[in-house]
Amino acid sequence: MDIDLARAWVQAIAVAVGRHKDHLTQLDSAIGDADHGTNLDRGFSAAAAVVADLDAETVGAVLTRTGTALISSTGGASGPLYGAAFRALGKSLDVPVADQRAFAAALAAGLESIRKLGTAAPGDKTMIDAYAPAVAAFEERSRQGDGFAAAAQAAADAAEEGMRATTPLQARKGRASYLGARSVGHQDPGATSTALIFRALADVAA
Ligand code: ADP
Ligand code: MG
Ligand code: MG
Repeated sequence: MDIDLARAWVQAIAVAVGRHKDHLTQLDSAIGDADHGTNLDRGFSAAAAVVADLDAETVGAVLTRTGTALISSTGGASGPLYGAAFRALGKSLDVPVADQRAFAAALAAGLESIRKLGTAAPGDKTMIDAYAPAVAAFEERSRQGDGFAAAAQAAADAAEEGMRATTPLQARKGRASYLGARSVGHQDPGATSTALIFRALADVAA
């Protein structure tokens, strides 16, 4: 990944989130407080504006500034979590061009920061349920010798599968957990936005 691809990724996420804003909010109205779409639209629009004007010298600079913008603009539980993830990605990629191995490691660092901050485990019906399989798929395809685009494609597919698999789960973290068994039968909003983030990566890398 180079600086232009990092910038294109953030901008593609902003476009995707804008397009799916109402859907994300609808999902959050079933098991949360109906703000996930507006939260993320605000956050990623701010991030896209910041990186558009940024005179970056490293991939990390783009992603770190994205994380900072997300933390200050998104709100909700998802803002600090995605903010921390992008800041961790940025910290791991302090180079003008990151190779695929370094990017895989950065994705894993992003996941670790979400885990640390949110203390959710796989199966708790959160963004982790899409993020963790996406990282595993990216790593696996990279190990098999596939290129960045193919690995990103596999990651997006795995994130979407993980997203769909949140529907039968009972939420154990975040606002949805207050509903107990009533959270079953609804797709998690955060897992859905994570799938958009990985699909955007696959699209810009294709
Ligand atoms: P809020 O719940 O504060 O309104 P959002 O609606 O923006 O925040 O985001 C909700 C999403 O955040 C959930 O669908 C879930 O995926 C994710 N989430 C909430 N709490 C956690 C957590 N502790 N760890 C990981 N993800 C979480
Ligand atoms: Mg919400
Ligand atoms: Mg909220």
